[in-house]
Amino acid sequence: MVAGVVGRPVAHSLSPILHNAWLAGAGIDGVYVPFTPDARGFRRLAEGLRGGAIRGLNVTLPFKPDALAVADHASEIARRAAAANLLVFDTDGRIYADNTDGVGLLRAFEVQAPQWDAGAGPVAVLGAGGAARGAVAALLLAGAPKVWVVNRTLKSAEALAAALGPKVVPLPLAHAAGAFRDASAVINATSAGLGGGPGLDVPLELTRRTAVVMDMVYKPLETPFLAQARALDRPTVDGLAMLIGQAEPSFEAFFGQPPPGEVDVRRLALEALGQ
Ligand code: NAP
Repeated sequence: MVAGVVGRPVAHSLSPILHNAWLAGAGIDGVYVPFTPDARGFRRLAEGLRGGAIRGLNVTLPFKPDALAVADHASEIARRAAAANLLVFDTDGRIYADNTDGVGLLRAFEVQAPQWDAGAGPVAVLGAGGAARGAVAALLLAGAPKVWVVNRTLKSAEALAAALGPKVVPLPLAHAAGAFRDASAVINATSAGLGGGPGLDVPLELTRRTAVVMDMVYKPLETPFLAQARALDRPTVDGLAMLIGQAEPSFEAFFGQPPPGEVDVRRLALEALGQ
């Protein structure tokens, strides 16, 4: 049984480490491999895999919108997110698209901040790109009463709000304070802090003491954003928990069983990250 991840670049992806460790742990005769087609090669690759030559693909940047476009059926969350990170190839030739990033986000909260309740209050999402859109869609489905979308480029936040409905309120990054005071969680879905770059200059000190601070970035694991939150004694959730959280339902979709719980994939991922 074969599954894989497709992206450009893809060499940095931790997904093969997670899935291959789970395959070995479950005793499944299978392998999970990376693919990196050129910009126009994605559709050829996906079309060529119709019929179930392989079980499915996880999809990462820049192909998530293309993955939704190539599918014959898509889940509600993938349609709302306007992107898919999971394709499953049926043996009858059809391609099914899903987006497990939102599930991954919610599982990360369950694991690292189990006291948090999606319905308890507004959530502030920083960023208005693909990851933010998936997160907002998942938070709304999980019962968040209001989601602030706080972005450097206001127009993108406004577009996201227009697409996802009246519970989504756009705000420029310079006015983040307006979203922080009553937020039950603040989620960094921007790429600021990625690869050790500078973090966001936002007033996290204005958040409630119970507000959970989450960063989707996991390289480095301790971003300046999370470091600021920890210094303020806020509960935190990291991007690696989300990565593992989105991989779990993908594994089940590919191989028909949940990943074996006894395999410590977080430790393997941390080793790969040099932590
Ligand atoms: P994207 O579509 O390129 O969007 C990037 C977002 O970041 C935009 O809103 C952009 O604002 C903002 N941004 C970039 N640099 C900024 C800066 N210096 N200051 C303020 N805002 C900045 O990227 P994406 O796909 O949404 O991914 C966002 C992040 O989430 C990436 O770091 C990605 O690795 C991470 N991610 C993690 C997981 C996980 O499993 N942990 C899953 C998905 C994504 P403008 O609109 O103003 O340009």
